[in-house]
Amino acid sequence: MKIEAISNRVWSLKTWIIIPVTVWAVADEDGLTLIDAGIPAMAGGILRFVEQSGLQLRRVVLTHGHSDHIGALKRVLAVHRVPVYAHPDEIPYMEGRLPYPRRRKAVPVIAPGDVLPLESEGDRLLPVGGLVPYHTPGHSPGHVAYYEPEAGVLLAGDLFTSKRGTIRRPMAMFTADMAEAVRSSAIVDRLRPARLEVCHGGPVLHPAEQIEAYRQQAWKRIGANA
Ligand SMILES: [Zn+2]
Ligand SMILES: [Zn+2]
Repeated sequence: MKIEAISNRVWSLKTWIIIPVTVWAVADEDGLTLIDAGIPAMAGGILRFVEQSGLQLRRVVLTHGHSDHIGALKRVLAVHRVPVYAHPDEIPYMEGRLPYPRRRKAVPVIAPGDVLPLESEGDRLLPVGGLVPYHTPGHSPGHVAYYEPEAGVLLAGDLFTSKRGTIRRPMAMFTADMAEAVRSSAIVDRLRPARLEVCHGGPVLHPAEQIEAYRQQAWKRIGANA
């Protein structure tokens, strides 16, 4: 597993299984927040990273509930008994009460009550662990991107993929509603992050400079498929 310090309080932890799989850790005065839990093979590396950081793991927050984002959860929670949060719209799919859009069967990946809803005030998700969560639906109904305002890093999960520093669409096969995912890219215009991080790909610097081109490409492809 490759560990990179993105800023003095944001790290990416990356492994490869055909495609890259990334999780992130963010420190605040209270301890560490883990963003996503990757694939099962990442558990050892995540646990070692937490131990070597000398910080207390406080919570896990999820971008969404797909299996490649929760794989190491069980083993991490066996060592650190911390709460896990996701967007309230995502939890029914994770608990197997609803099939993910475009999937035939509901598949529970967690037990009821294991994942708690991110706190909110009206439509606004409340900051957690020094991160500001934003609902960015499309790839999945309750997809969330997490913004670290100090370094200007947007941890965007599967809202996008990337290739050689260029923003790409999320993987179509696993995306519930591509048009909605493309609309959710407006978060990049709104925040103008210094750096965009995606789960399956490398970093994108100054993503706002290419977001309009990304959308034009994406709409063209959606139009072609309609
Ligand atoms: Zn996904
Ligand atoms: Zn994924």
